[in-house]
Amino acid sequence: MNENKPEKTRLADYRPYPFEITETRLTISINDDHAVVTGRFLFTAKTGKSGSPVLLDGKNMELLTLKIDGRKIPPSGFLVSRDHLVILDIPKKKTFVLETEVRIDPFANESCEGLYKSGNILCTQCESDCFRRITYFPDRPDVLSVYTVRLEADREKYPVLLSNGNEIETGQLPAGRHYAIWSDPFPKPCYLFAAVAGNLGVIKGKYAAKNGRLIELRIYVDSGSENRTKYALECLKDSLSWFENKYGLPYLLDLYMIVAADSFNAGAMENTGLNIFSSRYILADPATATDSDYQNIAAIINHESDHYWFGNLVTVRDWFQLTLKEGLAVFTDQTYMAETASAPIKRIDDVNRLRNYQFTEDAGPGAAPIKPSEAISFDNLYTATTYRKGAEVVRMIHTLVGEEDYLRGIKIYVINHRGQAATTEDFVTAMETASGRDLSRFRETWYHQAGTPVCRVRTEYDKKRKTYSLTVEQNCPPTPECSDKKPFYFPLAVGLLNSKGRDMSLRLKGETDSVPALATKVLTVYEKRQTFIFKGITEKPIPSLLRNFSAPVKLFYDYTPEELAFLMAYDSDPFNRYEAGQRFAVLDLERSIAHIQKGEEPSADPALIFAYGRLLDDRFLDKDFVALALTPPSEKELLENMEICDFNAVARARNHLIRGIARAHEKKLKTIYDSLNDGRPYAHDREAIAGRALKNKALCYLALLGKKEYIELACSQFANADNMTDRVAVLYCLTNIRCKERKTVFERFYADWRLDTLAIDDWLCAQAISELPGVLEWIKTAENDPVYDRKNPNKIHVLLFSFLGNPKYHDPAGEGYEFIAAKIASIDKFNHLIAANLAKRAFENYGRLDPVRKELMRKAIDRLLKSEPSDKLYEIISKI
Ligand SMILES: [Zn+2]
Repeated sequence: MNENKPEKTRLADYRPYPFEITETRLTISINDDHAVVTGRFLFTAKTGKSGSPVLLDGKNMELLTLKIDGRKIPPSGFLVSRDHLVILDIPKKKTFVLETEVRIDPFANESCEGLYKSGNILCTQCESDCFRRITYFPDRPDVLSVYTVRLEADREKYPVLLSNGNEIETGQLPAGRHYAIWSDPFPKPCYLFAAVAGNLGVIKGKYAAKNGRLIELRIYVDSGSENRTKYALECLKDSLSWFENKYGLPYLLDLYMIVAADSFNAGAMENTGLNIFSSRYILADPATATDSDYQNIAAIINHESDHYWFGNLVTVRDWFQLTLKEGLAVFTDQTYMAETASAPIKRIDDVNRLRNYQFTEDAGPGAAPIKPSEAISFDNLYTATTYRKGAEVVRMIHTLVGEEDYLRGIKIYVINHRGQAATTEDFVTAMETASGRDLSRFRETWYHQAGTPVCRVRTEYDKKRKTYSLTVEQNCPPTPECSDKKPFYFPLAVGLLNSKGRDMSLRLKGETDSVPALATKVLTVYEKRQTFIFKGITEKPIPSLLRNFSAPVKLFYDYTPEELAFLMAYDSDPFNRYEAGQRFAVLDLERSIAHIQKGEEPSADPALIFAYGRLLDDRFLDKDFVALALTPPSEKELLENMEICDFNAVARARNHLIRGIARAHEKKLKTIYDSLNDGRPYAHDREAIAGRALKNKALCYLALLGKKEYIELACSQFANADNMTDRVAVLYCLTNIRCKERKTVFERFYADWRLDTLAIDDWLCAQAISELPGVLEWIKTAENDPVYDRKNPNKIHVLLFSFLGNPKYHDPAGEGYEFIAAKIASIDKFNHLIAANLAKRAFENYGRLDPVRKELMRKAIDRLLKSEPSDKLYEIISKI
């Protein structure tokens, strides 16, 4: 790259590919230092007899042979460029067979794209546009083909040879080599192609579909790790069964395989019949995996298996439709986790992630609608916006049309588009057909406008008329694609609490008695300003607004601290009960931050501290809910609301509040800790998981007090723990505490777990987020530690991405910015995707920095711009 600006692709320029490729036969022959890929493709012109040139994508390969209908094409008949092969010499007939032979080098490929070496195996990653690194092909999702794949390799080095579909033949070859032939009967786009070769262990299971058909399940891992796959296998069975029961859509292949890879750019990939996962999301046992590792495994296995119908059998027409499959799969995995574990905890966690990652995107220079209209690199569309906001958009459709019509809509969508490449319009249309509801305003606003709508709510109680009016005003800050936005169309779920803390029965003015009075009323908001009047309201209520976070908006209402404390204690909507505590804390923290900025000491409202104490006393609340509710809003969330980020004031105010809670409720916290630290052996059930969450939250608060007895308590938990959750919790407890025990605990953990590539990740992460002095020097040392691998995306995440959340990254000396910019430049040399993602997070606050930091960050960005960045990285940093 790139003296010239890289080119943009636009949604409006979409044109169908002029050919169908009904059949694709690939042979991948793996040798010691290269691979040869032969392809045989059956082309059919969509109109007429063709004769027009064929354009194929391909990069980093050497073309060895090119034939059409068995005839070798002379050099004058084709053009090869860096990214394409154009065949000019095309017969004037409807159908012809193209044959190619190319040489690629998977062993030198460090990008984790195409066919590459991951640990000791060779594996593939083709989404979004990396099939072009394997062979010449129209690398776009709307070209669907039936694949037959033959893999050949050394028998000893690569005893396992896998591809999509069913294995139809295996056999021996001369010179110690062997082969396997795989056939996938259903047409698929090339981004779902997968192949794996290596020496892997396997664990097998069976899933009986509802019609009695048996599906074989296989999980492949490094030999020796088989006993750490039992949980993943159970999750896979459970996910297939849940999906089939809920949507009535069965898995249609005979075999479902998952391969765990050490080096993987994403969490996992849904290749049909052959998912490839980062090992982190497969391997688990109590000794090495934390409760949140277990949860991630369940959610990701479900997510990838949801894609079988939502992405694979109905795929996307082009990459601008990415949210069609990702928003839908994320909403589906969120639903699965909510139905199989605790729904409120799941919702709180999902909303926190949305606020922490997606709201920041919407407020930053790269803000884009969930369905963007242009892009330089499709890889940069894999954002929290596409995934998480996309899921919120599907969730809003679900709320608007209701569960029954939603399920009917899904049926219509898959029946109408199975085996096709669909668009977001197709999905919304199916939902309209199922529900009879006009969603055109919804579609126009949420799919095509970026930005987080800001809603201000005012209320008025009319005692005489017994009415309560609620006025909603919405606006949305300008974003790069549009400054004057149409009002968003969204569901606003509302409850009204009486003075006893109970829900009132709600009916709107004009509604007759035939409309059932509800405790939660879902209002449809679609104007800039709208008023809703509730009738029969016998006393002035306290409103519970945006229940269960019914729309991805920022909602403001002038609650008094008393009202928030009341909602914190009584709201029947668990999300809003949690939310009330967060709002109360934000109010108080913002006041405290203002004090600090005036040179005064931080402060915390005793009423807020008291309200936290009430949570600790409430025996009816779930323990994991209390643990979450005890956590004040993140620094990231607080920074989000500031015009100019004041990292120090935010960290100081938040630390002051947390210490205030710990001091005020020391006894309660100790009692809770003791009651939960009961010496019972490890169990992996809901109650035990919730207990560990609250116990470890209590321990963190106590340790913060810095008293010797609590540091000893933490050390004793560390020494006696029979599971990784309790052990790792101590790392996070001690990471910000200056004491000699901190060093001992981290050294012990290292000594015990340095050979376990997954367990050591928490050791890296816990230290990268430490706010103690010297963290940057420590990170530089850690990069040279044998437990770190500079080229492994997962390790880059736990060390460098974690550091970005550390206030020390924004140290006014600018060393953090310089260090990260240098890392981005060096990662960009071998992995453009991870470099681009790291840059996006590293510079997301640029527009809201103070002048000193802004100048330092600008220098870092400018240096990167001059360093010949890849297209992917350029697209991110050129917008800043
Ligand atoms: Zn996905």
